[in-house]
Amino acid sequence: KKELLKVEGLKQYFPIKGGFLGRTVNHVKAVDDISFTIYEGETVSIVGESGCGKSTTGRAILRLEEPTDGSVVFQGTDITKIPKGEMRKFRKDLQIIFQDPYASINPRQTVASVLSEAMHIQNVLPPDQRRARIEQLLETVGLRPYQADRYPHEFSGGQRQRIGIARALSVDPKLIICDEAVSALDVSIQAQVLNLLEELQDEYGLTYLFISHDLGVVRHISDRIIVMYLGKIVEIADKNSLFENPQHPYTKALLSAIPVPDPDAVKSRIVLKGDVPSPIDPPQGCRFHTRCPFATDKCRTEEPVLRTSDIMKDTHEAACHYMEEISAGKMTPNY
Ligand code: SF4
Ligand code: MG
Repeated sequence: KKELLKVEGLKQYFPIKGGFLGRTVNHVKAVDDISFTIYEGETVSIVGESGCGKSTTGRAILRLEEPTDGSVVFQGTDITKIPKGEMRKFRKDLQIIFQDPYASINPRQTVASVLSEAMHIQNVLPPDQRRARIEQLLETVGLRPYQADRYPHEFSGGQRQRIGIARALSVDPKLIICDEAVSALDVSIQAQVLNLLEELQDEYGLTYLFISHDLGVVRHISDRIIVMYLGKIVEIADKNSLFENPQHPYTKALLSAIPVPDPDAVKSRIVLKGDVPSPIDPPQGCRFHTRCPFATDKCRTEEPVLRTSDIMKDTHEAACHYMEEISAGKMTPNY
C-alpha cells in the first residue's frame, strides 16, 4: 500500500468575533486534532452528523479554508506549508465534487465551456485538442458528446453530477474529494452515480475521500471508514470491520439507527440522549460523554485516545475508555 495523503494533527478553528472592539472572543473548534492516512486507489469515507467537521476536513485538505494547525502531506509535500500561489499545481491532483451541482456549475456556461475552463486553468492539452477530449469525457461519465453544447438547466440532477465528475476528471486528478456528492439525488440515481465513481476508480486508478452523513451510501462505496463526532475521530476501520464489529458507542448508535428488518438489531439499538453539544465549548474528557449511555466520571475528565484492542483487527481503532468492557457486556447502559 502506497501512502497518497497523510493528515496529521489537523485543526480548523473558526474565530468568533465579539465585544465592542470586535475581538476574537472564542473559536468554533470544527476540526480538533485529527490524523489519518489515505492510500493510493482506496476509498476512505468520513461519516458523521452535520457539524462533526467532516466537510471542514475536506475543505482544509484543499486549503479552501486555511487550516489552523497540522499538516497535510500529499505525495511527500506538506501542502499546508507551501505558498498559496503554488497550490494551483496541487489542485490538479486534488479535485473536489460538491453536493449541489447547480452551485458549482455556472448556469450561463455550456458544458463544453465549463470543462474547457477547468482544462485551461490547469493547462491540460493544447486548446485545439480540448473539444475532442470533452466529448470523450462526456461519454466516459455516461452522457452524449452532443450534450457538450447544452446548458446546466437542460440536465437532471444526476446528469449535472455526472458533469461535475467529468469536470473533475478533465484535469486528470489523483484524489477526488466527494463532499455529499450524491446526497441531493434520488436513491436510484445515487446508486448509478456511485457505480460510475467505482468504474472510474478502476479505470483511472483514482483515490476517493468520500464525505457523507449517509451510512447506506458509505457502506456502498468505502474501503475504510472514519467516524467523526464533534471535531474528533472516534473510530476508524475497514468497512466490514466497522459494520460487523463497531466499538465506539457513537458508531453503534449510528449503525443501529439504520433501518433493518432484523428484530435482534432492534433489541441492541442504542438511543442517544440530547443533541450534539456546541463545538465552541465542547465537553471535557470524552466529547461524547454528554450523550453516551456508558459514561463514567473518568469519561468526563480524561480524553480517550484512538487505539486498537484484542477484540478488533489491528487496522481498526476507536477512542473509548471502555470498549472492551462494553463489548463484554460488563457495562450497564444508563438510559
Ligand atoms: Fe462513552 Fe466513556 Fe467511551 Fe466516551 S469514553 S464513548 S463517554 S464510555
Ligand atoms: Mg473501490
